[in-house]
Amino acid sequence: MAECLYIFDNLEEISRKIKSSEKILLGMDHDGTIAEVITTLIASRITELMRNILYSLSQNPRIHLAIISGRTIDSLKEVVNIKSDNIFYAGNHGFEIEGAGINYTFNDKDALEKIRVITEEMDKKFSNVDGLVFEKKIFTTSFIWSTVTPEKQESIRNEILEALQKYKSIRIVEGKKLFNIRPDVYINKGIAVSIIGNHFYKDNWRKQVTTIYIGDDNSDEDAFKILEEKDIGIVVNKSPPEDTNAKYYLKSVKEVEDFLKLVNEI
Ligand SMILES: [Mg+2]
Repeated sequence: MAECLYIFDNLEEISRKIKSSEKILLGMDHDGTIAEVITTLIASRITELMRNILYSLSQNPRIHLAIISGRTIDSLKEVVNIKSDNIFYAGNHGFEIEGAGINYTFNDKDALEKIRVITEEMDKKFSNVDGLVFEKKIFTTSFIWSTVTPEKQESIRNEILEALQKYKSIRIVEGKKLFNIRPDVYINKGIAVSIIGNHFYKDNWRKQVTTIYIGDDNSDEDAFKILEEKDIGIVVNKSPPEDTNAKYYLKSVKEVEDFLKLVNEI
């Protein structure tokens, strides 16, 4: 993979790209990208300053703003808490999308039933592990082991993976000290970005907008992958990341805040 560049060392190029774009689709993840991850996913919320920046971005006529998260759409809307007709919320990695005229929900009953049954079986199998958290959502389930005693984390991770791999027709995605399982269908954060682009510009959306996408997780790589040369993919990582499809990186949520302010001013 090409070297991932630090955004603030390449501001000239970035500004040029943004200035020359008539329309911008600005998509971003929530946890670890615009909000610090505190101890559990539930606790992380955007700051008031970030909320103000996002609100003014949503009022910028050149920008379509989208927040795309692994959270449920209800949880995402609650933590972001911006009332604006110009924001798209995509929950569950794109299984649900809402905002500015889109109202989309994935609804394959068999696939959803399968996830429910696996969650139940896993719940029984691992009920004796202290600290292991099962986050059950409508479309996906996350098995979070970051809360298990550090000495046991590695072995629990391996046991969970081994158990999950016995099931067919599911997708297993590894996040930060968690596994997320979901129906094996072609929906991910990249597809979510495409659905939003298509909504405005039909099949021609790639040519008509510059897409900026910011995220810190494995699941955000699906969004980086669909970006083209003119677009701007930004991974959030403390140090220069090695395995990423993003062309640029920022080091922290604070730097994302600085960058977003800048986008609004260009
Ligand atoms: Mg994240």
